[in-house]
Amino acid sequence: MGLGDCHVHTSLCNHATGAMETFVQKAVERGLSEICFLDHLTLAKEGASLSMSPGEVGLYFHAVKRLAARWHGKIEVKAGLEVDFAQGGMDIERRVVDTYAFDIIACSVHFLNGFNIVSKRTQKDNPYKDPRNMARDYLASLDSMLDNPFFDMVGHLDVVKKFSGVGEEGLEQEWEAVIRRLARLGLAVEVNTSGFFHAAKEQYPSRRLLKLCREAGVEAVLSSDAHSPGEVGREFARARAVLAEAGYTRLVSHTRRRKEVVSLEAP
Ligand SMILES: [Zn+2]
Ligand SMILES: [Zn+2]
Repeated sequence: MGLGDCHVHTSLCNHATGAMETFVQKAVERGLSEICFLDHLTLAKEGASLSMSPGEVGLYFHAVKRLAARWHGKIEVKAGLEVDFAQGGMDIERRVVDTYAFDIIACSVHFLNGFNIVSKRTQKDNPYKDPRNMARDYLASLDSMLDNPFFDMVGHLDVVKKFSGVGEEGLEQEWEAVIRRLARLGLAVEVNTSGFFHAAKEQYPSRRLLKLCREAGVEAVLSSDAHSPGEVGREFARARAVLAEAGYTRLVSHTRRRKEVVSLEAP
């Protein structure tokens, strides 16, 4: 098994473009051996328009499965969800997750007390005067999400730095605690190359956090977080170099929520 892109979106989230099949086609063109759709499931009302609704998950899952059948033998097409923290809504999320035979479920924090931390449009409404407080709240949300035992991976681990550039300063112990928890729970970390194209100008997570993940025994996956087909597999050579520098010699791939080892070498 070769390299895969484990995190791409679809137009169901209302902020991605391109037909699902074109994402698959692009992954084949890039020489990837698998692609995993990991579209948003966000229940909180501030994110509802940026996500499919729970009622659309069946349609999404079956659309991925149809593509998997059509592209069988050429590339493995997988189905996953990028789930947001939903105060009081985790039972609904769990029911959705358990209804379908997903390959991977990611937990990602995009909202803090109703504020969208990842959208350029909402930055003018940022209620945090001190970005370190935002990073502290982010870590607390991530930690609460990890109380829910149905995740396989954490999305864009330090995305809180996206616009502020601040994610780790003064919070070293908190980060170490979260990373130790990921290792204990067996969750993977993704090296998400979308960060190269954002204000942060580097992958998520930072080299330092990635090295801590490796030292703690957290497995890694590789992802583009593509919101259009042209972004599939973007900057993977650069990300592989970052992974190697952090000491990773292998990645993992998830099938029906089980991990298997994948070589970090190019396909
Ligand atoms: Zn995300
Ligand atoms: Zn995403």
